[in-house]
Amino acid sequence: MPETAEASDPAAARFASRLTVLAGPTAVGKGTVSNDLRQRYPEVWLSVSATTRPPRPGEVDGVHYHFVDDAAFDRMIAEGELLEWAVVHGRHRYGTPKAPVLDRLASGRPALLEIDLAGARQVRAVMPEAHFVFLAPPSIEELKRRLVGRGTEDEEERRRRLATAEVEMAAAAEFDRVIVNDDVHRATDELVAAMGLPTR
Ligand code: 5GP
Repeated sequence: MPETAEASDPAAARFASRLTVLAGPTAVGKGTVSNDLRQRYPEVWLSVSATTRPPRPGEVDGVHYHFVDDAAFDRMIAEGELLEWAVVHGRHRYGTPKAPVLDRLASGRPALLEIDLAGARQVRAVMPEAHFVFLAPPSIEELKRRLVGRGTEDEEERRRRLATAEVEMAAAAEFDRVIVNDDVHRATDELVAAMGLPTR
């Protein structure tokens, strides 16, 4: 298991209820739902993760991710700069920089993390008051169809991601709420409710 943030971080515990962790398998539509949410609720801040994965065409450093090399990621772990981190899909490391999340929560505004299952478990260990939401596909077949449809992964990568997806789906019951993403706007409405945001 990777190291996690300090369990006794008082700032983390105090502001954790403003934090929502959105997990769910690859291609389930976490990005689509969180974009829809932030269009309606611009005050919701989405954490920008660090990753050792190389950028895809169109991805901007500091916007989609902080793209770092292995040495920089090692340093972030060693310095305790990450709230959580995990190897995702058996390949690259992804992690949530801790300071921006705590700053954001301390300012009283809601924050959202889009992370994998291992990361969500780590956040729950240190910030159990956060809201843990699992976004699920209507079915595994639909998930496969979406993954092929978006066309950003080759076949080997799709296979790898579907294997992770099956493991993640089995853990849905660990979450406070499971939202089935059969309709983006409806799923967003459920996420709004889970986050305790006012209806708009
Ligand atoms: P992608 O490579 O498609 O951008 O992201 C793959 C997966 O990495 C996402 O579906 C998400 O679950 C996970 N991920 C992204 N950022 C983080 C992070 O900061 N921590 C963890 N644990 N997982 C992340």
